[in-house]
Amino acid sequence: MTDSGGEPRADATAPGPPTASTEPHLVDEVEILEELLAQVVEESQPQPARAYSDLRGRCAVVTGGATGIGRAVALALARNGVHIAFNYLDYGDGRVEEEAERTAAELRQLEVAVLCRSCDVRDAAAVDRFVQEAKETLGQLHILVNNAGIARDRALWRMTDEQWQEVLDTNLTGAFHLIRAVAPILRAQQYGKIVNISSVHGLKSEFGLANYAASKAGLIGLTRSAAIELGPSNVNVNAVAPGYIRTTRLTDQVPADVLDRARERSALGRLGDPQDVAHVVVFLCSELSRHVTGAVVPVDGGHLLH
Ligand code: NDP
Repeated sequence: MTDSGGEPRADATAPGPPTASTEPHLVDEVEILEELLAQVVEESQPQPARAYSDLRGRCAVVTGGATGIGRAVALALARNGVHIAFNYLDYGDGRVEEEAERTAAELRQLEVAVLCRSCDVRDAAAVDRFVQEAKETLGQLHILVNNAGIARDRALWRMTDEQWQEVLDTNLTGAFHLIRAVAPILRAQQYGKIVNISSVHGLKSEFGLANYAASKAGLIGLTRSAAIELGPSNVNVNAVAPGYIRTTRLTDQVPADVLDRARERSALGRLGDPQDVAHVVVFLCSELSRHVTGAVVPVDGGHLLH
């Protein structure tokens, strides 16, 4: 039995490879090699992987993209090379228009194409026109992020028809209008990503949120149905369910003690930022999540404690 696995063993007496000292004609080559090796810069820091390179050149519609989470989503997608069309609701006082222009300017600095329009997601005809214009301006359409949403909190025995209807029409019917408008485009190209911004309150509710919780739970049902119907066309449809997210107009309306309780109840002991939601949305729009559909991803710091 040999100890070399059958391989011929190196003969210690055999002449080795020529060295520079024994072969003067190789001196120049060795010096050149050493010089080249000295020029090689060693990476002291690992370089970030280009995780979302598949997103470059894609085109997205983000509803309610002027402010808060929608704005963070639009910017995060644009940083990955996605062209953006976003809308806002015009209240006629120019306030939101100014914010929308600021967001549009920031997006353009990222060297992507941008379309910014006033469009009420409750108005089906206006949504159809906006989606058509987005496709014409950006050239194509691959991604839809249904983010536009409002809250009108009140004990349900005091809730008016208008408060109920406004929230359902915006948060749920608005998302339906957008999905219906983009579906023929995504089906025809056999590719698409849809992300709906639901809420932890679509999974479990709190006092005063009957309209909001119903709309966000409905959005989860819509997500699952759309995933089933669009899956055969290679379209992923998912939802994210954020917990309380800081520095947005929605949380401005929430009493401080409610926010304190939410912070205490989360496993990570903090509220989220719009970017925390945006990063998950970008993942769901990328090919890294190509086998994920009909899912609801919580972004709530671990809303596990009671
Ligand atoms: P913002 O109020 O900053 O953003 C909501 C956006 O929706 C605004 O840009 C608003 O436009 C737009 N919008 C409202 N109604 C309409 C409409 N009819 N047509 C078109 N656009 C409309 O709030 P957030 O960023 O906090 O919320 C974004 C989404 O995230 C919402 O769906 C919300 O329910 C959800 N969410 C938020 C959480 C939070 O803690 N902040 C937690 C869980 C979910 P305009 O600027 O013109 O008013």
